[in-house]
Amino acid sequence: MTDRDRHVRVRIAPSPTGPPHVGNAYIGLFDFVFARHAGGEFALRIEDTDRERSTAESEQAIMEGFKWLGLDWDEGPDCGGPHAPYRQSERSDLYAEHARMLLEKGAAYRCFCAPERLARMRKAQREEGESFGYDGHCRDLGEEEIAAKLAEKAPFTVRLKVPEGGQTGFTDLVRGDVSVPNAEIDDQILLKSDGFPTYHLANVVDDHLMEISHVIRAEEWISSTPKHVLLYGAFGWEAPTFVHMPLLRNKDKTKISKRKNPTSLLWYREQGFLPAALRNFLALMGWSMGEDREIFSTEEMIHGFTWDRIKTSGPVFDMQKLEWMNGEYIRATPPDELLQRILEEPYTTRVDEPAEKLLEIVKLIQERINRLADFDEQTNFFFEREDYDAEELIPRKQDAAFTRDVLDAIGRKLGSVEEWATEPLELAMRELADELDCKRGALYMPLRVAVTCRRVSTPLFETMEILGRDECSERLGIAARKVGALVED
Ligand code: GLU
Repeated sequence: MTDRDRHVRVRIAPSPTGPPHVGNAYIGLFDFVFARHAGGEFALRIEDTDRERSTAESEQAIMEGFKWLGLDWDEGPDCGGPHAPYRQSERSDLYAEHARMLLEKGAAYRCFCAPERLARMRKAQREEGESFGYDGHCRDLGEEEIAAKLAEKAPFTVRLKVPEGGQTGFTDLVRGDVSVPNAEIDDQILLKSDGFPTYHLANVVDDHLMEISHVIRAEEWISSTPKHVLLYGAFGWEAPTFVHMPLLRNKDKTKISKRKNPTSLLWYREQGFLPAALRNFLALMGWSMGEDREIFSTEEMIHGFTWDRIKTSGPVFDMQKLEWMNGEYIRATPPDELLQRILEEPYTTRVDEPAEKLLEIVKLIQERINRLADFDEQTNFFFEREDYDAEELIPRKQDAAFTRDVLDAIGRKLGSVEEWATEPLELAMRELADELDCKRGALYMPLRVAVTCRRVSTPLFETMEILGRDECSERLGIAARKVGALVED
């Protein structure tokens, strides 16, 4: 069968040993996009074979994170599917049964080596500067010896019996042929002494039973794939198509890590990155839309998806670029939708403020923020009078007396404005600048600091309209008194 006529089924197979990782989300995105492009299915399988490190909280967080990002899986532990269960800890019997099959075929063997012996072996290998690998001590135990050990209930693991000579290879969909001498492949443990499978056995058995057509995973798994290929061969199964995606990298080109980049998907959510923006960014890390396009929707990617546009060089996770992209998405979102997002998460403590006021503020702030979590910090002055130094009010090359007089004049002028709205306010201030024969900047700076309590703020007259006449005059009064105190009589 060729790839072309194989019904597409893909899976993301995270291990629930920590917060949902952005690298997993990146692979999940490609699974999702490819499945949708090909009219196939996308499954979520929880690989919780590491009993000590796996937790239910992590599983929950992974599902929540993926849902938030919009990676809708068709089959999984929460929604079931034709190959349930989708949690490996609930499939132990299957792995044990398959390990037995391999033993019967002679493709695997029982290893009775005690941990102490393995530790000694490893130490010797390290001292000799050899790479670690099992030395084959139990590879050729006789039937009687095995029977005797089993009778005395000696604990054992099951290992893959890697053929001695030859090569094992596969064709990676984006990298081409990959081949490794069998001599370099370790007799991998498949079943641990507690009866639980290792990643390799469980992964292969499940990918086969779940009829996965394409295994899409990060490049760091490449060295595992020859072992998997041997397993498929040993079972007599057809192997899926493998795709090893370029790993996300820190700026220094090392694998993306917590120390250098936030890696938890939940962090991106908390910061107020929009799912669509993060999807676009992750897509761009591994794929090009063509024509140097950087902003594109997941829908567009699904429509135009081809494997030959995968970038194989290590993409650098550039936070500044993500911020920029998120800003673009924020600006392209209708303000009412943006407000809804801000209130739903919520990204603000101002949930009880009147919706109309919030909407007006969103319209202004949407031009200036790159993360929704910045909302409160950037808009605080709309709701509270913030403290500031009187010096802040004084424009460059001017003094306190000038500033006090200007603030007084502004106050009087504003009193004559009939309609408290952006345009008349702006007009009045322009007139005043002419009347006083001063530069607009010298007028606007004290006014801005007086009403917003900041030197940098949202557009001045729109902001004043939202604040309202009474609040603005109060704040002007406070400012005039503040700066007045600096003036020596
Ligand atoms: N459980 C592995 C992980 O945590 C799955 C790798 C694979 O896709 O085969 O990423």
